[in-house]
Amino acid sequence: MSEHIVKIIPKDPFYKVFEPTLQSVKTFLETRIHCDFIEVEFNEAPVFVDCGTNLETISCPQCGAKLDFDWWGNVMDEVADNSFTSLKAETPCCKKQISLNDLNYDFPCGFACCLICIYNPEQIVDDKIIDAVQSILGIGISIVEAHL
Ligand SMILES: [Zn+2]
Repeated sequence: MSEHIVKIIPKDPFYKVFEPTLQSVKTFLETRIHCDFIEVEFNEAPVFVDCGTNLETISCPQCGAKLDFDWWGNVMDEVADNSFTSLKAETPCCKKQISLNDLNYDFPCGFACCLICIYNPEQIVDDKIIDAVQSILGIGISIVEAHL
């Protein structure tokens, strides 16, 4: 059976949420969402938060050109060699300096130092829930919808 995971991440890839705060978001979500389980994850540096099989295209935020997955794989290897301390890269299409976090991933993906994963939610994670999570965290969040 395929898995559906809703991943909640701060919009800023380098933002680190205080661990008890992340735990309180988890507790809040457990009271509001029916799902298999919820997990939180912390990392020292940003990790790529992927949308699994939902990822179809990656395009340039500057000129809109579709980017090659081989190019993207190579720049991901380069930033991984630097332990993701920088996410900067030069686009192959228009030679602009961009952050890998700002590429247009379809479906959306992102980078984050911490994430909250909701496994197989039985309902939509709606704006009300997102607003509540943002006010607990005190920061803007993005949602990555993954299918495995
Ligand atoms: Zn471009």
